Amino acid sequence: MEEVALRLEELLFPSVADIAVLSVDMNIEIVRVDAQCTTFGAACPGCGAWSNRVHSSYLRFPADAPSAGRRVVLQLRVRRFRCRNTMCPRRTFVEQIPGLTRRYGQRTERLRSTLAAVGLALAGRAGARLAAVLGVPVSRSTVLRLVDALPDPEVPAPRVVGVDEYATRKGRHYGTVLVDVETRRPIDLLPDREASSLAAWLAQRPGVEVVCRDRAPFYAEGAAAGAPQAVHVADRWHLWHNLSEAAERRVAQHRRCLRALTPAVSQPEPENVPAPDPSTSPWPTGHRFADRTRARHTAVHALREAGHSLRSTQRKLGMSWHTVKRFADAATPEELVHRPVAEPALGPR
Ligand SMILES: [Zn+2]
Repeated sequence: MEEVALRLEELLFPSVADIAVLSVDMNIEIVRVDAQCTTFGAACPGCGAWSNRVHSSYLRFPADAPSAGRRVVLQLRVRRFRCRNTMCPRRTFVEQIPGLTRRYGQRTERLRSTLAAVGLALAGRAGARLAAVLGVPVSRSTVLRLVDALPDPEVPAPRVVGVDEYATRKGRHYGTVLVDVETRRPIDLLPDREASSLAAWLAQRPGVEVVCRDRAPFYAEGAAAGAPQAVHVADRWHLWHNLSEAAERRVAQHRRCLRALTPAVSQPEPENVPAPDPSTSPWPTGHRFADRTRARHTAVHALREAGHSLRSTQRKLGMSWHTVKRFADAATPEELVHRPVAEPALGPR
């Protein structure tokens, strides 16, 4: 019998010392493990003094990690001790089993960490669904609470910091996200995109050597003030984005030159489709940039004619105020692309 009990403890509590399993009781759904602590006394959590003066004892029923698809509930007999230290504000205290229980905890430590891991991977709703499949019915808010209670991970001091904005409401409210570019992990969120907030954040991290940012003036100012030692670089996404937009715009401006250069390969127009009149619009349909500009121009003007203010139009379309103003000021979408070209044109315009 002794040998069987010993094996049971090793089986059920491999990493917990000083525990005795008194009995195991099971039915179709649930396994009940009757156990108790075997130490001679316990240390007071208030003052650390050791005590073996038992005041009373009672049963706790912390839920444990499931076993073979069955829910496991421990039935732990825990003792309440009197603190021997007369100066201690705690007169009595309840023993905890290290690695298994915590004060007021309704779950064992291993079930807590399992559910927290599920929550980290899947968050609330999906986490709760998977936990139910695993035999631990739990609410989604409990899953989130367990994730929330995890200690913050240690973040190594970043060397290369990426700065960009994020929207909590597009066109209305923006914050700042800071990313460790070397580990590609977000490090922090700032509630606004003010130069002063970024400067204060960077000033606390003198190890920053490179700031990777877009060309927004508030970030330029904030990064220069907060990390004067750092090199500033434009981030790759914005470089490609700006380059592709500029290239698209420029190609659209020079469409006629392209057409003039390739007369031989141009296909004859089908007879029943009227050819677009190049004198009214130099843009063909089906051109991504042109179509997008036309659609946005139409949307802005429709809202303006319906009596919406610029501010309201901006909110409805999720555009920046500056963009809305530019579209509203242009009578036709063509005006938006046919801005003066800096260098000499390549051919007849
Ligand atoms: Zn004490």
